[in-house]
Amino acid sequence: MTQTNPPRTVVVTGGTSGIGAAIARAFVAQGHRVAATYIGDPVPAETFSRDSDVAVYACDATDYDACTEALTKVEQDLGPVDVLINNAGITRDTPFHKMLPEQWHSVIDTNLTGMFNMTHPVWPGMRSRGFGRVVCISSVNALRGQFGQVNYSAAKAGVLGFVKALAHEGARTGVTANAICPGYIDTDMVRAIPDHVRSSIVEQIPVGRMGQPDDIARCAVFLAGDDAGFVTGATLTATGGQYML
Ligand code: NDP
Repeated sequence: MTQTNPPRTVVVTGGTSGIGAAIARAFVAQGHRVAATYIGDPVPAETFSRDSDVAVYACDATDYDACTEALTKVEQDLGPVDVLINNAGITRDTPFHKMLPEQWHSVIDTNLTGMFNMTHPVWPGMRSRGFGRVVCISSVNALRGQFGQVNYSAAKAGVLGFVKALAHEGARTGVTANAICPGYIDTDMVRAIPDHVRSSIVEQIPVGRMGQPDDIARCAVFLAGDDAGFVTGATLTATGGQYML
């Protein structure tokens, strides 16, 4: 029933740490050629690359020209991009009445416009080759909102609209677009939350634990598979039952 996927070229944004790193490693384990972008320190990114067999590229998702340049380099090194995992994201949490314009713009620019900047350059190639997979990491907080995250919830909800419209446009050309809404996943982003708040969060998760990055990686591998061509425009929640669509 399940067909074997041929090796694909996969790009994971923010793919050298946290959820992105787990996704990148999962695609390597499936035999694909994998590139990860990062924005921070090149030293841990290069260490990750040596350890994982993932090629790494410095690229700020908020800069359209830098994204185009990095994707051109990836295509020269690994071949045309078949699968794009838009994972890069940041938080700048604060109650709305204290939110500064730069906190709003940085979150929208990274978490939403970054997806445009990375998807737009690879979209024509996916369409013309008749195969493509775009998987965007949204959040449970796109669906239910969250105190202190007006910027983040707006950006992540925007991602859901982005994916649905893209899914319409790619449908006849073999290109799918889907979103994953993780619940709380045990990464640096969540470790930044104070311990007592983290404990109260776990109490609200029916499965009784936070998710692990690999829980999300398995969702991404499924949605990117050749045999997932009928799944497009979908929002896949992976929240341990914390939020059910
Ligand atoms: P991390 O903070 O661990 O990783 C975020 C990644 O995004 C890093 O690799 C970072 O690169 C990269 N990044 C940030 N800004 C940019 C930019 N401008 N250009 C390129 N890369 C950038 O977070 P997580 O792994 O937890 O989160 C991954 C995704 O999952 C995010 O989109 C997040 O919103 C989403 N998510 C996470 C949840 C969680 O509970 N952890 C829950 C729901 C959604 P670098 O390492 O170089 O700084």
